[in-house]
Amino acid sequence: MAVAFAIAFAMSAAVAGAVTIVHRLPRWQSPLSGVNSFMGTVTAVLSLLNLAQVLVSHPTAAWLLATASYLMSAVVVASVFCLSRIVADRAWRVTRRTLLLLSIEPVAAAGAMLTNPWHHLFFDRFEPVGPGGGLVPVLGAAFWPHTAYIYSLLTVSFVLVVRARRQAPPGRRELHDWTIAAFVPPIVANVVGLSLPAPTVDLTAAGLAVSMIIAYGVLVRSLPQQQIQVALDQVFDTIGDAVGVIDRSGRILNVNASARALLRKAGLSDRPEGSSLAEIPGLGLFPAEDVDTEQDVTNVLGRDVDLHVRTSVLRDRRGESIGWVLVARDTTEANRRRREAEESNVRLREQLETIEALRADLAEQAVRDPLTGLYNRRRLMDVLAGEFSRAVEDGTPLSLALLDVDHFKRINDTYGHGEGDSVLVHVARTLVGEVRHDDVVARYGGEEFVLVLPGATAEAAWARIDALRERVKGTSVGVGEDLLSVTFSAGVATLSAEVSSPADLLRIADEALYEAKRLGRDRVERAVPRPPGTAGAAEAGTEAA
Ligand code: GH3
Ligand code: MG
Ligand code: MG
Repeated sequence: MAVAFAIAFAMSAAVAGAVTIVHRLPRWQSPLSGVNSFMGTVTAVLSLLNLAQVLVSHPTAAWLLATASYLMSAVVVASVFCLSRIVADRAWRVTRRTLLLLSIEPVAAAGAMLTNPWHHLFFDRFEPVGPGGGLVPVLGAAFWPHTAYIYSLLTVSFVLVVRARRQAPPGRRELHDWTIAAFVPPIVANVVGLSLPAPTVDLTAAGLAVSMIIAYGVLVRSLPQQQIQVALDQVFDTIGDAVGVIDRSGRILNVNASARALLRKAGLSDRPEGSSLAEIPGLGLFPAEDVDTEQDVTNVLGRDVDLHVRTSVLRDRRGESIGWVLVARDTTEANRRRREAEESNVRLREQLETIEALRADLAEQAVRDPLTGLYNRRRLMDVLAGEFSRAVEDGTPLSLALLDVDHFKRINDTYGHGEGDSVLVHVARTLVGEVRHDDVVARYGGEEFVLVLPGATAEAAWARIDALRERVKGTSVGVGEDLLSVTFSAGVATLSAEVSSPADLLRIADEALYEAKRLGRDRVERAVPRPPGTAGAAEAGTEAA
C-alpha cells in the first residue's frame, strides 16, 4: 500500500516538475505562465512532502511533514484562486493586500498544526500507512474548519471562472472550459483520499499533477490563439479610428477606445454596448444593407464633429451576414483645415487678381501720356524699334510722320494753358479716330505727335497724313467761348536703304517738319532721306497740300 502511494506521489512530483520547467521556457510564455509555473512548483513540493510522509515513520518527522504538506495545500488553493481571477480578468494582478488576506487562514492553521502535540485538535494521532509504511495523521476536529475554508475558496474561484465564461464571446470560451476541467482532478483526488479508511493520505497532489497536464495542454493548444487575440485586442484599442461592431438588429456589441473617446466628445455614454445604434440620437447612421458603404457625416449629433464612416458587412463562415463593422475616422480637423485652405486660396487668388490688375494698370500708366491717353515717347521708341526691325527683316514699307500744331503758343497765350490742353486732347482724339488699326499714335512731346504707319509707302503715308491734316483742320474745338480750328504741319519719313535706325527715321521726319513750317505751315512734307551726319537741311520734296 505504502509503495503504491509512494509511486503515485513520485510520478506527481515528476510531472509537476516537468510541466513547471516547460512553463518557464521562453516560447511558452503567456499571461498565465507565472501562476502556472508557481502552481507546478508547489504541486511538485507537495508531492515530495506526501512521498516523504508515506515513507518516514519517525513520529516527530511525520508530524512536521503533515504540517508542511497541509500548509502547502493551502498555498495551492490560494494560487488556484489567483489563477481563476486572472482567467476571469486578464488585467488582474496579485497585490500585497491579496497575499495578506490569503495568508490569514493558513497562518492560523499552521499555528494549530504546530501546537498539535499539546491539543491534538488538528491531528488526532498518527498511524502507519501500511505494514512498514510511514506515519500519516488521523484527522482531528480542527481539520474540518480548515477544509471548509479551502473548499469555500475553491468554490469562489470556480464561480469566478464560470461567470467569466458566460460573459465571454462564444468563440473565446476555450480557456474557461479547460480551467473548469482542471478543477476536477484535485477535488476528486481530495475527496477520494478523505473517504479512504484512516489514517488519511491526502491524494490532492496527484490530482493536481493531472491538472498541470491539462494546463500544459491548454497552453500549447491555445497560446498562439491567445497571443493573436491579445495582439488583435491591442490593435483594436490602439488604432486612432473609432471602431464599432454592430449585430444584425443594430445592437452595438463592442466598441474600441477611440470610439469611446468619440462618444465622450459628443457628450454621450462611452459604454454603448447593448444599446441600439439607432437609439443614438442624431447620429443618422444605421447600416441596413448587406453591402460595404462609405459615407461622410458632418456635424454629427449636432456638434462640430465630422466623420468619414466605412461600413463593412460582417459574415459568418457560410457567408451569411451577421452584422457590420463601422470604422469612423474623425475628419473634423482635416475638414476644417481643408476649408481654411480653400478659403485662403480664394483670398489669395483675389489678391493676385488685384495685384495683376494694379500691375497692368501701372504698366499701362508707364507707357501712356496722362493728358491725351496716347502712347508716350518711351513706348513710341519701343514700338518703333519693333516695327523698324520687322520692316527691315520682311522688306515691307514703313513710314513715320512727325506732327506739330501750328502756332500753338498763341492758343496758350490767348486762352490759357488749360484750354491749350483741351486743344491737345481734341487733336489726339481726332488722330486716333482716323488712323488704321496697325498704326501707332504717340505724343512725342508738347504739341508734337508721331504716327507710325507700318506698310505705308512714302506716297501713301504722305496722302494719309495730308488727309488727316484736312480732317483736323475741318473739325473745330470749343476753346473758352470760341470755336477754333487748328492746323498742324507734318514731316513724313519712309524707310529706305539710307535709313539705318529708328532715330534716323525720326531725325529725317523732323527735318521734313522743319521744312513744312518753313514753307508756311498747315502742310505735309516728305523727306528725301540722307545718310546721317550729312550737313544741311532736308531737301524736301514738296507736294501741294
Ligand atoms: P509753331 O507753329 O512754330 O510750332 O509755333 P508754336 O507756337 O506752336 O511753337 P512753339 O514750339 O514755340 O510753342 C509750343 C508751345 O506749346 C510752347 C509751350 O508752352 C506749349 N506747350 C508744350 N507742352 C504743353 C502742354 O502740355 N500743354 C499746353 N497747354 N501747352 C504746352
Ligand atoms: Mg513745337
Ligand atoms: Mg507748334
